[in-house]
Amino acid sequence: MHWRSKLIHPNAHAPANFRSLATPTYRGSTVIFARQADVSDDWRQTENGYSYGLYGTPTVLELGARIAEIEGAHHSFIVPGGQSAISLIYLSFCAAGTHALVPFTAYGPNQELACGLLQRLGISVQAYDPLIGAGIADLIRENTALIWVESPGSVTMEIQDVPAMVAAAHARKVPVALDNTYSAGVLFDAFAHGVDVSMQALTKYVGGHSDLLLGSVSVADTRCYEAIGPVYKQLGMAVSPDDCSLALRGLQTLGVRLERLERSTLEVARWLAQRTEIKTVLHPALESCPGHEYWRRDFTGSASIFSVVFDGRFSAGEVAGCADRLKLFKIGFSWGGVTSLAILYPNLDRPGVDYGGRLLRLNVGLEEPADLIADLAQALLTLDTRV
Ligand SMILES: *Cc1c(COP(=O)(O)O)cnc(C)c1O
Repeated sequence: MHWRSKLIHPNAHAPANFRSLATPTYRGSTVIFARQADVSDDWRQTENGYSYGLYGTPTVLELGARIAEIEGAHHSFIVPGGQSAISLIYLSFCAAGTHALVPFTAYGPNQELACGLLQRLGISVQAYDPLIGAGIADLIRENTALIWVESPGSVTMEIQDVPAMVAAAHARKVPVALDNTYSAGVLFDAFAHGVDVSMQALTKYVGGHSDLLLGSVSVADTRCYEAIGPVYKQLGMAVSPDDCSLALRGLQTLGVRLERLERSTLEVARWLAQRTEIKTVLHPALESCPGHEYWRRDFTGSASIFSVVFDGRFSAGEVAGCADRLKLFKIGFSWGGVTSLAILYPNLDRPGVDYGGRLLRLNVGLEEPADLIADLAQALLTLDTRV
């Protein structure tokens, strides 16, 4: 062969049987079949063999298999991010003329999708009070195709009575989807509590280092698997095996990171709770958090994200000034990484509650809690003189 052909069809190879602890990163779009008769284009690669890189290389399917094992799922689809997990679930269960229910504390872009693209497609999504519990039964219509739960809620952290809501939904044969990002798929056992589909932004705790975007959609049974698979294929939700390789590495340290983050976060939250500048601490493990009793009943731990509401005597501008003085806490979205973050929600839309621009969300990272508390103390100092 000409050397140019050898570049494409080499005969020399590295020795086989390298036994390492790391999962190999398999890149690939084309899958090679042995014979024409073997050719398939099937998203069910776990059962029927590999057909195309779009549905996942072995690295991607390995991550899916491990997430499914940890969550106790029938199967986990790996998708480009948490938001694409949300879209995939809506588009798998809802069609023009159907109705879906979503808590008004759901992740902001979930609500944007509901009011934007989904409305254009003729899917009507209705927001409900996250603390409605079994009362969700009254909102279920003939054409309700999906009920979302997200517990705790984004930013305001309300814990939902998921088992009561699942019971009401299943009585009307409506599937329940959970955004289980807060619990990293482990602090709340979605399937033991009857949820049909559980998604996570792997971007947060599984990635754990603010350097990748991935999501997972885990299903309880074959019915949900068959509902989601074709849509997953049609939407072409491919992910990078390199990102999956990082997520697989993240999984190995998830246990120690969550344990440490829980402890540090509680220390910071409890310190803030006894400060006179702070009116309320919205942390699921503290009694001041709406739905705390459901957290105590249903969760095995708490994570690194919570919010504080500053006392009414401070203006939104003063609270923003305080947040700007933080040094270790960086200003930024997303969470679950190693760095502490703080971000204000000046225009938070929650029916019946006006936080007046005084709600600050904190993500505690892996810094020493005493240093984080000192940082918060110095930022609060100028507010303090006005007590
Ligand atoms: C971050 C987040 C998402 C979206 O995840 P991306 O990977 O950023 O798309 C979805 N739900 C919740 C609760 C989140 O915090």
